[in-house]
Formats: sequence, structure tokens, C-alpha cells
Amino acid sequence: MEQINNRMNNTEKVVLVTGASRGIGREIAKTLANKGYKVIADYNKSEEQAKSLKQENENIEIFKADVSKREEVQEMVKFTLEKYKKIDVLINNAGISESKLFTDVTDKEWDKMIKNNLYSAFCTTQEVVKNMITRKEGCIINVSSVWGMIGSSCESIYSITKAGIDGMTKSLAKELGPSNIRVNSIAPGIIDTDMNKCYNNDEIDDIKNEIPLERIGKTIDIAKCIKWLIEDEYTTGQIISINGGWVIT
Ligand code: NAP
Repeated sequence: MEQINNRMNNTEKVVLVTGASRGIGREIAKTLANKGYKVIADYNKSEEQAKSLKQENENIEIFKADVSKREEVQEMVKFTLEKYKKIDVLINNAGISESKLFTDVTDKEWDKMIKNNLYSAFCTTQEVVKNMITRKEGCIINVSSVWGMIGSSCESIYSITKAGIDGMTKSLAKELGPSNIRVNSIAPGIIDTDMNKCYNNDEIDDIKNEIPLERIGKTIDIAKCIKWLIEDEYTTGQIISINGGWVIT
């Protein structure tokens, strides 16, 4: 009986996904909404895509918030709590990337990358976790990257932000575990999204040749693992890399 109740509760869970208008975040929002989760899908610039996402599933509500700005994150969390009274799951997915020689990176570019990829997760987690601590229940999933694990030439600042995300994951797993809040990172390899539009077909083929499973990842590969992680009850503080065997540590 208890198991049946748990399963029913799972489908009533409220999930906040940042950066859900496109790519991986959009797929996560759709996958979870299709399973009955109530999803708040955050977007920033891609309003049309966000509106089309909302139309796809009645379990999806959209909210415009630039997660690099605390006031906008606070508004989004307030909206979610007023609508659903709780947040069970936070997925810090929003992110940007830029390829540049380390020696050419300006202070402005450093600030932009840190704000969008690292501060965003820090700030959103701080605003959401208060509700989770009060309720002694929660699940936080940070989308990092294999580059945070092994580093990347010409994407050093991006890699720094993702390594920072992984450090936050491990630290918060220890700090929030006693409050029954699990914190994990998902570290994708190369996934077919706008973020990799910069690669031409030959470059993609070269990358595929380095991957034991001989294909680049699909957004659904990440969404399936996120769904599993939400439903799991004993995994915390882990960096789970989904990369087709490209990076094996
Ligand atoms: P994408 O297709 O470029 O989509 C990025 C998403 O993040 C968009 O929905 C965008 O929203 C949102 N976003 C960016 N900055 C934001 C901000 N300040 N506030 C709110 N939303 C913001 O990228 P993706 O490939 O799906 O990447 C998603 C996450 O996976 C990122 O954290 C990325 O670093 C990570 N990742 C991706 C790969 C890959 O190969 N694709 C590999 C490893 C890790 P708007 O368009 O509405 O502004």
C-alpha cells in the first residue's frame, strides 16, 4: 500500500526546470510532464519556443526569468509556490557556452559565464531550498558537463563553471542530506542541441569516432536519466556522466 502511495505522490511532484525553452531543458520538461509531473519551465530569450512548449502539455507552466538575476529568480520561485505550494525537484539546467583561448577571455566574458552557469545555480538553489528544508524533502539536479570533470582546451571558463557546479553538488549533498534533500549532477558528453551548432558535419563525425557507442547523445538520453534520478531515493552527491563512453574516469 505504501508503495502505491509513493508512486501516486511521484506523479504529483512539482518540478522547476531552468532553461527549458530549448535543448536539454525542453526535453526534460516534456518528459516529466508526460509522466504527470507538474512542471514550471523557465525561459529567458526564447519566448515563442516557451509558448509552444506550454501548448504541448497541460502539466507545463512557463515563466520568464533570467536566472543570472536574483530578483527574477525570486519572482519565479514566488510564482511557483503561490501556484503549487511546494517545489519537490529543482533542475539547474540553464547555461551558455563560448569557445575562446584562455588568454583572450575578458573580465566581462568571465563575469557573463560565471553569472549564467554558476551563480544561476547558486542563486536558484538558495531561493528554492528554503521550501525543501521546511518540508524535509527535495531533489536537486545540476546539469554540468564532462568538461567540468576533465577540462577542455579553449573552453576553460565554461569548464571552470561546470567544475564549480560539481563542487556545489558534493558540498550540498553533505549539508542537505540530513534534511532529506538529495543533490546530484548530470554531466552530459556531446548532445545534439543548438549549443553544438558551431560544429560542422566533419567535426561531428570526428567526435563520433571518439565515442564507443558511435553516436552523439540525444536530449532524451539526458531526460531519461533525470527521470530515474528523481524517482530514486538513495543516490546523492554523485556526478553521473552520460556520454556514450566518450569519457570514462
Ligand atoms: P541550448 O540548446 O543552447 O539551450 C540553453 C537553454 O538555456 C535555453 O533554453 C536558454 O533559454 C537557457 N538559458 C541560458 N541562459 C539563461 C538564463 N540566464 N536564464 C534562463 N535561461 C537561460 O543548450 P543545451 O545544450 O540544451 O544545454 C543545457 C545545459 O546542458 C547547459 O547547462 C549546458 O552547459 C549543458 N550541457 C550541454 C551539452 C551539449 O552537448 N549540448 C553538453 C554538456 C552540458 P533562452 O533561449 O530562453 O534564453
